[in-house]
Amino acid sequence: MTTTRSPSMGLFSSFDRNYSSCSSNLIRATLFPGDGIGPEIAESVKKVFSAADVPIEWEEHFVGTEVDPRTQSFVTWESLESVRRNKVGLKGPMATPIGKGHRSLNLTLRKELNLYANVRPCYSLPGYKTRYDDVNLVTIRENTEGEYSGLEHQVVRGVVESLKIITRQASLRVAEYAFYYAKTHGRKRVSAVHKANIMQKTDGLFLKCCREVAEKYPEIKYEEVVIDNCCMMLVKNPTLFDVLVMPNLYGDIISDLCAGLIGGLGLTPSLNIGEGGIALAEAVHGSAPDIAGKVSIKDISSLKHLKCNLANPTALLLSAVSMLHHLDLTDKADMIQDAVLKTIAEGKYRTGDLGGSATTTEFTKAIIGHL
Ligand code: NAD
Repeated sequence: MTTTRSPSMGLFSSFDRNYSSCSSNLIRATLFPGDGIGPEIAESVKKVFSAADVPIEWEEHFVGTEVDPRTQSFVTWESLESVRRNKVGLKGPMATPIGKGHRSLNLTLRKELNLYANVRPCYSLPGYKTRYDDVNLVTIRENTEGEYSGLEHQVVRGVVESLKIITRQASLRVAEYAFYYAKTHGRKRVSAVHKANIMQKTDGLFLKCCREVAEKYPEIKYEEVVIDNCCMMLVKNPTLFDVLVMPNLYGDIISDLCAGLIGGLGLTPSLNIGEGGIALAEAVHGSAPDIAGKVSIKDISSLKHLKCNLANPTALLLSAVSMLHHLDLTDKADMIQDAVLKTIAEGKYRTGDLGGSATTTEFTKAIIGHL
């Protein structure tokens, strides 16, 4: 059985998305708890969703223990099918296994599900002091090509080559999404980030596509910023920007820079938009092996928790909130976001990365208390 909803963040306004729903009218969503701290922060999301009565039924999929020949990676074919079927999902961090003969987990998901745009809203959290208290921007990263096309080889001994691929199709697609996002989210400006003065062909084509799309959105101001200058401007005055759209590698770097402006990767959500209406929300941080499996002193004394309990689940929770917005479950999204922000602002239960001493469990309980 499927439910059709009107889009709020889809690429085209005429585009309908069909989500799997269960007999109980819950929307079925795929959940990848991931590796390292992933299962623990995923547990926090499940607890908060349950306490907030969010009409989602999770279909959990774990990273495989062997390479699946159908995906050539540890991501199983069944888990990809689950996202294709449900069209919506949430992903915890996945460690990149070291070794040859398989594809990176994150790259497999991006390629197989055609997740072409990575959207990262970045805003100052009330009550959590950083250098700026008025950051409010969104980075939109092309997610499928550029320097991350995986085309690298040795030319001769001592010389290697890595190819940067930019296509008209992928550039138009991400530019279209950026302008559509700006229009539907009350944003006023889109800045294309580039290095076309040096990379004339590749970044030149990217800009050409952005300009073409910009003409269709006269109500949105369009500008172009060279990447190095963009970094300097962001660090000096991030309020100069609204929506930034850029090729893959620049997006990878700039989005982390922006996360740093508001307090780090533990606080930053993201949503990957794919072809056919797929949306996969994910925390942008990694599996944090340095704290995964560690037990806080409090837990040792009570012996209640046997696994790690130090991670900050905020990024995954706020990613889950962006998934709810995507599903037009705005009331639930706002309720959970407010509870997370109130808990951080209050300052009583902050995790170690935010200078506090709360465990993941205590932080989660405090959020539930604010619902
Ligand atoms: P990382 O993001 O895992 O950790 C960097 C630092 O931030 C560490 O000190 C860690 O403790 C801290 N940190 C990260 N998330 C946190 C959280 N939620 N709460 C508290 N502290 C947190 O980066 P890394 O160490 O470079 O990568 C570890 C593994 O994760 C690698 O295998 C890498 O490939 C993978 N990775 C995956 C993703 C993803 O799944 N999207 C992204 C980045 C890295």
